[in-house]
Amino acid sequence: MSDTIEKVKCLIIGSGPAGYTAAIYAARANMAPVLYQGMQPGGQLTTTNDVENFPGYPDGITGPEMMIQLQEQAKRFGSDIRDGWVTKVDFSGDIHKVWVNETQEIHCETVIISTGASAKYLGLPSEQKYLQLGGGVSACAVCDGFFYRNQEVVIVGAGDSACEEAHYLSKLCKKVTMLVRRDEFRASKIMENRVKKTENIEILFNTETEEVVGDGQVVTGVKVKNNKTNEITEIPATGFFVAIGHKPNTDVFKDFLELDETGYIINQPGTSKTNIEGVFVSGDAADHVYRQAITAAGTGCMAALDAERYLAAKEVEVEG
Ligand code: NDP
Repeated sequence: MSDTIEKVKCLIIGSGPAGYTAAIYAARANMAPVLYQGMQPGGQLTTTNDVENFPGYPDGITGPEMMIQLQEQAKRFGSDIRDGWVTKVDFSGDIHKVWVNETQEIHCETVIISTGASAKYLGLPSEQKYLQLGGGVSACAVCDGFFYRNQEVVIVGAGDSACEEAHYLSKLCKKVTMLVRRDEFRASKIMENRVKKTENIEILFNTETEEVVGDGQVVTGVKVKNNKTNEITEIPATGFFVAIGHKPNTDVFKDFLELDETGYIINQPGTSKTNIEGVFVSGDAADHVYRQAITAAGTGCMAALDAERYLAAKEVEVEG
């Protein structure tokens, strides 16, 4: 353990659009924010190629480039952006304690959590290969579907997200093949019926992904196995979408913050406030519905404003 404890007015944990936006607002409000970037600086957008739906970029921008720009904007107003991973917190007292890299202890007047969520992947080597190459594997139809207009794609998953994304893709793509590993959906009936009624969605039940096939650069098909008959077939496709759920990065907070059954932080409706005063949440760590860069940025702004107002109210209390 370090013997020097740092005192911080506003600590931001996480470096996606939510964290950087919170830093821009907090820095401009003279809160001297310190932001820890976490394991994946830039967050989920660093695994995205082109971002074409973030307002203000008429020609689009790559995910990594956008994160660099957001970081520069946050630095311009004096945000202190650091490498480091929050390994422990103690939100039981008035001053919120946070430990970085197991050792550095920080005492914070306010904390903004922007740790995001991670899309789950199947874990197949071929899936990971084309994901890293940016060659046709995606976990976000709304982000990437546009690149597959009039093409044939495969989507794996049978929950509400998979149904919603399959339906979204069906409006852009020539054909969507949906791989369901059991003989039934997990999704709500209304979502299930919607995909079943969509002409260009083909649903393959009892079907698992064996391999994402490609030419070394881009995806050309998906090898699948029927787990009842063991028959293996290859579906031609240029895109492979994975919609098997997300995992919010909130484990470190679970002893102090109210989480829902899947681990998302519960915020007070219409605000970024958590159940602990002075601790705020923004971005995908609390959002399993919208999960967009722009909504994350919006809630990052809310968190900084809520934190600023919380500090202002405390000062009035002390003065009064
Ligand atoms: P879910 O956990 O609900 O569903 C995950 C799906 O992925 C399941 O069908 C599961 O199969 C499948 N799956 C998991 N692992 C694998 C694997 N290795 N191979 C193949 N398939 C796999 O996640 P969602 O993201 O769909 O939804 C999360 C929450 O968000 C839910 O509560 C949902 O209702 C909600 N939501 C609501 C929406 C809305 O109301 N508009 C939109 C999107 C989400 P199996 O069924 O066999 O376990």
